[in-house]
Amino acid sequence: MSVGRIVLYVLAAALAGVTVGMLKVLPQKEMPPQELALPQVPAASISVRAATTTPPPTTSAPPPAAVVKEAAKRPGPELPPGVPVREMGEGWWRTIAGTTEQVGTGKVHTYSVEVEQGAVLPVAHQAFAATVDAALADPRGWTASGDVAFRRVDVAEPDVRIRLTATQTARATCGFELPYDTSCYHEGVVYVSAPRWFRGAQSFAGDLEGYRRYVVNHEVGHFLGHGHEFCPADGAPAPVMMQQTFSVSNDALAEITARTPQGLSVPRDGRTCTPNPWPHQEVTR
Ligand SMILES: [Zn+2]
Repeated sequence: MSVGRIVLYVLAAALAGVTVGMLKVLPQKEMPPQELALPQVPAASISVRAATTTPPPTTSAPPPAAVVKEAAKRPGPELPPGVPVREMGEGWWRTIAGTTEQVGTGKVHTYSVEVEQGAVLPVAHQAFAATVDAALADPRGWTASGDVAFRRVDVAEPDVRIRLTATQTARATCGFELPYDTSCYHEGVVYVSAPRWFRGAQSFAGDLEGYRRYVVNHEVGHFLGHGHEFCPADGAPAPVMMQQTFSVSNDALAEITARTPQGLSVPRDGRTCTPNPWPHQEVTR
């Protein structure tokens, strides 16, 4: 074997090694977020609550094996897999042109619909605005109370801005103590997390349109002065002010928020609601 051939073999072997190395790295990068570990909650924080509450009903308690299986399948707070979403925006928002007629009676709240520059493809702008408009105008929305009205403005100064916001900007604004992407309301502005807008939440089981309406109504609910709620009854529609992005199960929500309370104490009462985007879902269209 000539020296030249040996060099070739060595190069080929090195290249193969590099290729294998890349193959080992790539799948990890594309691992769906739901494969990441669930948050670890110390056992102590679980037992404290259990000691003060009434014992849960025993009639429907499944055997331990089924409990384990159920827990493994339970929707988690992690972002579902889906379309790639840009991480970074430029930190400023462009108002989407367009206005609406007033919907509802009572006190009028004006809103603008805005997108963070560089965060979202232009093709998504009008669709975002249309979904926000539809969520606020729906008969099952906040206007059903009769004392809330909305009107979209674009040039005039709005009462509340609804901003589609890049991953990193939303994390910096809304906080990331709970390591899950979320939207939030802060001082007259709703920051809608772009990855959540485009990929939804596991609790909504693929109902992206329903989830988007939930996000708009939940965060505008904060603007209107509403705080968080928990599931009132097993199988009931989740209150729109429940943090449904994380879970529609009280037990799961209590566990997720145990070390970072979200303005209320969620009881560990075994109750699980169904996902619901509407403040007044009882209204029939
Ligand atoms: Zn909230």
